[in-house]
Amino acid sequence: MSDRLPGFSTLAVHAGAQPDPTTGARATPIYQTTSFVFNDADHAASLFGLQAFGNIYTRIGNPTNAVLEERVAALEGGTAALAVASGHAAQVVILQQLLQPGDEFIAARKLYGGSINQFTHAFKSFGWNVVWADPDDIASFERAVTPRTKAIFIESIANPAGSITDIEAISTVARKAGVPLIVDNTLASPYLIRPIDHGADIVVHSLTKFLGGHGNSLGGIIVDAGTFDWSTGGKYPMLSEPRPEYHGIRLQETFGNFAFAIACRVLGLRDLGPALSPFNAFMILTGIETLPLRMQKHCENAKAVAEFLAGHPAVASVSYAGLASDKYNQLARKYAPKGAGAVFTFSLKGGYDAGVNLVSKLQLFSHLANVGDTRSLVIHPASTTHSQLDDAAKVKSGAGPDVVRLSIGIEDKEDLIADLEQALSA
Ligand SMILES: *Cc1c(COP(=O)(O)O)cnc(C)c1O
Repeated sequence: MSDRLPGFSTLAVHAGAQPDPTTGARATPIYQTTSFVFNDADHAASLFGLQAFGNIYTRIGNPTNAVLEERVAALEGGTAALAVASGHAAQVVILQQLLQPGDEFIAARKLYGGSINQFTHAFKSFGWNVVWADPDDIASFERAVTPRTKAIFIESIANPAGSITDIEAISTVARKAGVPLIVDNTLASPYLIRPIDHGADIVVHSLTKFLGGHGNSLGGIIVDAGTFDWSTGGKYPMLSEPRPEYHGIRLQETFGNFAFAIACRVLGLRDLGPALSPFNAFMILTGIETLPLRMQKHCENAKAVAEFLAGHPAVASVSYAGLASDKYNQLARKYAPKGAGAVFTFSLKGGYDAGVNLVSKLQLFSHLANVGDTRSLVIHPASTTHSQLDDAAKVKSGAGPDVVRLSIGIEDKEDLIADLEQALSA
């Protein structure tokens, strides 16, 4: 064996997987079972007491899901990961470990529309209070910090306009405040940006998007960077205090640099219950094997489409960080040198009506609420994903009435451009 560390594409195919020890199966089998037989009574007791690692019940862990967890942890450069049923489930599980009722977390205002909803309404009903900050104004994060702040949440490449967030600058604010930085890396995928390299303590993904990549399976994952000390100041009792349900063990003390991933599994997933189906884990693992190839094609196509739109007379503006003229191009060169992703927005001179009209005229692009599919997708955020926001908040989050969002797939770029050309001139 060479002592070379495997590269990203090798990890995307192999990390976490080995031939099945019983059958020799080379692809990771789908362990479609709810539960696992114990060796004996002592073995059962030690698994339940967290003295030994092993399979108990698929709500807590499953061997197919474990391969997915190891693979994404390797791709992100984290110590451990936990796969759950969706990106939103991952966000709930993360914050449940960090916030007590009455606590606060700071979130970037430019976020996936579903996250804005989840943070504003559902989380409020748990007593978790979101405080919004502007990712283009780092000082707004500093100003938002209070003694009750328990975390900062940002997207690496932000919805819907594909803007690039200055992760390092916000991680400095988080360090100073003594709170973890959570980065939603869904739109970048670890192929384009690895937030842990820039100071993230926790990375979260909707696996539903580029990691799965084929628009066929929901999933979410939490990656523990292993960087945060949960014991300071008693701010994170779920991690630092004795756990009555596990014979009084303290998770940070017992599990060290992967204590957060363990907390998410044994306190979050076990008790809240959003387990990922092993079948979905299999589909997503298969998707991840081609992540590097797909991301290259997604980015190449997105850049070509953005350039075409920027030169079209019906188009007022294009927000794509991969364009040299874009306000985020400097940040894109620093954080995403391999490509600025494939989700971006543009605005039409004809406003809201032109946006709605364009969406109805496109043929190759599918009009739907998803991103990160092999197929090219289009949506008008103001009337769909961001419709719950008032007009000022729509504009602030990059989803004004004239804005159309694209998620560029891996088709031939000439066909995508021809479809846009016919729809724009119709
Ligand atoms: C889709 C998405 C989510 C939510 O993930 P689900 O798998 O749909 O629950 C969160 N963040 C971003 C950036 C997303 O695109």
